[in-house]
Amino acid sequence: MKDKDMTRGEELRKALSYDRKNGYDRLLPGEREAMEEYCAGYKEFLDAGKTERECVDRAVALAEAAGFRAYARGMELKPGDKVYRVNRGKSVMLAVMGKESLAEGVHIAAAHIDSPRLDLKQNPLYEADELAYCKTHYYGGIRKYQWVTIPLELHGVVALKSGQVVRVSVGNGEGDPLFTIDDLLPHLGVEQSRKPLGEAIPGESLNILVGSRPLADDEGKDRVKLTVLELLNRKYGIVEEDFISAELCAVPAFRACDIGFDRSMIGAYGHDDRVCAYACLAAILQLSAPERTAVCVLADKEEIGSEGVTGMKSAAFDTFMEDLCAGQNVPVRACYEKSFCLSADVTAAYDPNFADVYEKRNSAFVNYGIGLCKYTGARGKSGASDASAELVARVRRTLDEASVVWQMAELGKVDAGGGGTVAMFMAERNIDTLDAGVPVLSMHAPFETVGKLDCYMTFKGAKAVFEEA
Ligand code: MN
Ligand code: MN
Repeated sequence: MKDKDMTRGEELRKALSYDRKNGYDRLLPGEREAMEEYCAGYKEFLDAGKTERECVDRAVALAEAAGFRAYARGMELKPGDKVYRVNRGKSVMLAVMGKESLAEGVHIAAAHIDSPRLDLKQNPLYEADELAYCKTHYYGGIRKYQWVTIPLELHGVVALKSGQVVRVSVGNGEGDPLFTIDDLLPHLGVEQSRKPLGEAIPGESLNILVGSRPLADDEGKDRVKLTVLELLNRKYGIVEEDFISAELCAVPAFRACDIGFDRSMIGAYGHDDRVCAYACLAAILQLSAPERTAVCVLADKEEIGSEGVTGMKSAAFDTFMEDLCAGQNVPVRACYEKSFCLSADVTAAYDPNFADVYEKRNSAFVNYGIGLCKYTGARGKSGASDASAELVARVRRTLDEASVVWQMAELGKVDAGGGGTVAMFMAERNIDTLDAGVPVLSMHAPFETVGKLDCYMTFKGAKAVFEEA
């Protein structure tokens, strides 16, 4: 109908132009409250999961509470059945069986639960000038200068020769001690300050301070280190050699918290990619009996290229899908070719403080909803799966029909850098895949920031994909 108060220009603008609106101007009644409630659950998930192992434990606990059972090969499944399989304690796959055959394909949401951190080396503990330190090797892409002089926790496992696995978690409990990496005082940092950011803190200087008290009544060497070893032995029953088969990770000791006077954002360690992992998980936990089978993958090792037996390149995912398909006598390749995967991973949020690395027309903004990336990658889209136009159209329709606030996103200016996700490894399986996720400020920093609205819209987006007919 023609609006008689509109000029021709206004009418054309309304009909033809793509107008982007802040998500807060597009929320449905009651969504502010739903968003806050959802984000409270997300913050709990973050505090409980500082490593991929801990995220798996938390995801399984939530899944079991929602009626999921551990899948056993050969288990008979009917529509509405909910199952999960844990891969070596570090990744988890969940499925809700749909009404349709697996030959019609499945709806997948894949996110990763590993985050950048500092791993202890296999012979980490040493004493230097009566201070005890642990050597580290950083995991994932970090800006090393950001990891000094912040409080750190230590999480992980020590696997003993006996087969026993000792869990370690120091810093997360009430009254726990923390750790830190020292840096130069400005008074003596003249030379260091002249170096480029990327060189000022060398990787081999990321040594964690773990003790300073010498063993009493002893004349021998390394008395501080010996005190630390004695404490570790008392608490965990381990000796120095056991570090060889340990996975101990130093992670930032920050609790997830609201950011801003208006509490509209969340600051935390590990939003990349637990913010999407939690969204996909929360979405699949709410399903009852969807048309298509819904599959949620929380993968490990994305930050180092999705390598390894627990990464998205691993056949563990194919094996799980083959097992489900075998129950219906469907070849997994037939299931894959009709499947769709939302590769849920964070994207860079436009940052006005560093405007020159973004191209504003194509950037994702905080509070503009889940960001869809047709492609990621670097240079000439290298390392991208580059979803088809048809697929992007399908997702636009699905999200619009479910009133999900979404936006298009790109990982910074052309040639400013780049990055990848698990998307290409899903696409390699002959699964139509599109990247989508929450825009993050200070991605990969020890303390990252996201908008609550975008967290909630990513959950809504994942649910819309699962429920797509
Ligand atoms: Mn990521
Ligand atoms: Mn990342």
